[in-house]
Amino acid sequence: MGDVREQAEGSEKTKPNVADNLRAVRERITQACEQCGRNTDDVTLIAVSKSQPLTRIAAALEAGQRVFGENYVQEAGSRWPDLRRRYPDAEVHMIGGLQTNKAKDAVALFDVIQSVDRPRLAAAIAKEIASSGKPVNIFVQVNTGEEEQKAGVWPEAADDFITLCRNDHGLNVVGLMAIPPADEDIALHTALLAKIAARNGLSGLSVGMSADYETAVTFGATHVRVGSAIFGPRPPKS
Ligand SMILES: *Cc1c(COP(=O)(O)O)cnc(C)c1O
Repeated sequence: MGDVREQAEGSEKTKPNVADNLRAVRERITQACEQCGRNTDDVTLIAVSKSQPLTRIAAALEAGQRVFGENYVQEAGSRWPDLRRRYPDAEVHMIGGLQTNKAKDAVALFDVIQSVDRPRLAAAIAKEIASSGKPVNIFVQVNTGEEEQKAGVWPEAADDFITLCRNDHGLNVVGLMAIPPADEDIALHTALLAKIAARNGLSGLSVGMSADYETAVTFGATHVRVGSAIFGPRPPKS
């Protein structure tokens, strides 16, 4: 991992070079695609900017990055309306757990919501999309590791939930998202996600983070969510 790893683990004083890191991550995605005969254009790099200082996000935007991932509605709301005025083509994905009572803010803020995993949340998002007229694409989050403490619909319930999102709520479901257990083979989880996606006619597969995005790409990820490898370590949450 070379420089990226060093920076990710370096002291707080080591300022990450966001532009260099972005270039390195893109290069690795390209290599992973070449290895398995995929087209690089079929993989979207989502720069995960949660808890990162604004200067690092600005550096990524200046370096040409346009797709970002955020985890907290309030934090995203404190910066993206402003950033979007300067970068109208920026695309922001909600990848963190979403409370139903924040659906309205989330629909207003985000282009894509990847963490849809329960009927009440799907209903709330659909209602806000209908009343605001703002189009939002949806990923259904699947708990591929069947971990009790984790969000996501369980694999055996995924088909019914996807159907509910589409048919009952008219949501534009474009893919599936997973956060596999860190200590398990991401290949198996990506394969399971791909299987559920295929039988539901979905093309989007959001899986892979700083530690494993290349492997995820090799196994078919269309969206990788990379934070610390681009922005450096996240400052501790205060
Ligand atoms: C924080 C986060 C990431 C990025 O994690 P890194 O290890 O910093 O790349 C990706 N996906 C989700 C859902 C996250 O919460």
